[in-house]
Amino acid sequence: MSSHQLHCDACARPVRIMVTAPHALDGPPNMHDAEFICLDVGEQCTGGRCPLGKVEPDAMVSRLIRNGLPLDGMKSVFTLCPACDSQAEMVLYGDGHAACTVCGTPARWVLRHAEPLT
Ligand SMILES: [Zn+2]
Repeated sequence: MSSHQLHCDACARPVRIMVTAPHALDGPPNMHDAEFICLDVGEQCTGGRCPLGKVEPDAMVSRLIRNGLPLDGMKSVFTLCPACDSQAEMVLYGDGHAACTVCGTPARWVLRHAEPLT
């Protein structure tokens, strides 16, 4: 795995990228394409595919979790994961998405707005 700093056109900022060797978990093995993992995926990544990693934010976050990379730049909540049914830390990113750091499954994080006490 190697570390790089690249400019992301979608977020218009420099991001930290890890490049791993390809493996079969992402589908058919492709020995020519390394896997790009953005360490700075987060709330800015609301839309479609990451221009660097060529995947959507859900897939990018699950790559981070699967590879055991640090999630220090991301906000997280401790809650019941709807996929694996355990109390887990879930990282928040994108447009209301969350991913379980135990099983890596993406979910929707629903939070009602806060109001002042009356
Ligand atoms: Zn889970």
